[in-house]
Amino acid sequence: AKSLGGGTWRFFSADMASHASKAAQLESELRSAVKRHEFELHYQPFVDLRTNRVVGAEALLRWHHPDRGLLRPDAFLGLAEESGLIMAINEWVLREACRQGAAWQRAGLGALRVAVNLSPIQFQRQKVGELVRDVLLESGLQPDLLELELTEGILISHDEQVITEMESLRSLGVSLSVDDFGTGYSSLNYIRNFPLHRLKIDSSFVRDLAHGPRALAIVRTIIDLGHILNLQVLAEGVEEEAQLAVLQAEGCDEVQGYYFSRPIPPDAFVEWLLAREA
Ligand code: C2E
Ligand code: CA
Ligand code: CA
Ligand code: CA
Repeated sequence: AKSLGGGTWRFFSADMASHASKAAQLESELRSAVKRHEFELHYQPFVDLRTNRVVGAEALLRWHHPDRGLLRPDAFLGLAEESGLIMAINEWVLREACRQGAAWQRAGLGALRVAVNLSPIQFQRQKVGELVRDVLLESGLQPDLLELELTEGILISHDEQVITEMESLRSLGVSLSVDDFGTGYSSLNYIRNFPLHRLKIDSSFVRDLAHGPRALAIVRTIIDLGHILNLQVLAEGVEEEAQLAVLQAEGCDEVQGYYFSRPIPPDAFVEWLLAREA
């Protein structure tokens, strides 16, 4: 046992040691994963509720781990953030998603918006605006077809750096959405101060729509708030017809969820899209 001072003792058990060494191993595997091209993006469609058309897709990261198979981000994102590897990973995600979006547009699939998740740490350590500008130029993707999903954690920051980067993103003409809206912070100040385009209602509210009037009140309020502020509103995690019907009745603009499609590899996405529009 090791004293941490102040009468606090922490016991390092064999269990914790093995946990730590597993994490260290995963970190070193994560480090080589970028170079070994073990990452892949899966795409999940956004459906416009007025037209019933697919208007875009969110790019979601997957890791083909050499022994453990296909890993979802929850299994490695924490470690990627702690180790700083998330910067290189997210840069790859941005490049790959923009390349894909531009290819889809050239292939005549229509104006599909491609959405990419950004991490708070990128805003602290990277010139996100410059990165996005470079990636847009190199991919040839139309700026308004790129959407960046930001968490409330990024947006409540009063950091000069964040404000500068947001201004620079605004001037590029990309769209900006607030991910997991309603779960982070209750401050509405950032909505006023930043050049946002869309609120993404967190899936937890959509899930609870079937369980009484409270979730409905929250969803309705978010949709109204968004529309009053001239923002589009998308609901995440739609799994059932009944949820879809409520969202439609409430005037939600777009939906995303297993009801339409799980996140799937790009080829499967195109196949799904063509079959649906046929
Ligand atoms: P998110 O941005 O909120 O993405 C939505 C998550 O909900 C995805 O999980 C998606 O597969 C899942 N989902 C979609 N529809 C449904 C549904 O109808 N029901 C249920 N139960 N789940 C649904 P996924 O792909 O495991 O991603 C988890 C989180 O990891 C994402 O949450 C996002 O925060 C993060 N993430 C994913 N890709 C990236 C990335 O490239 N960069 C960064 N920084 N984070 C990423
Ligand atoms: Ca997201
Ligand atoms: Ca989300
Ligand atoms: Ca989420």
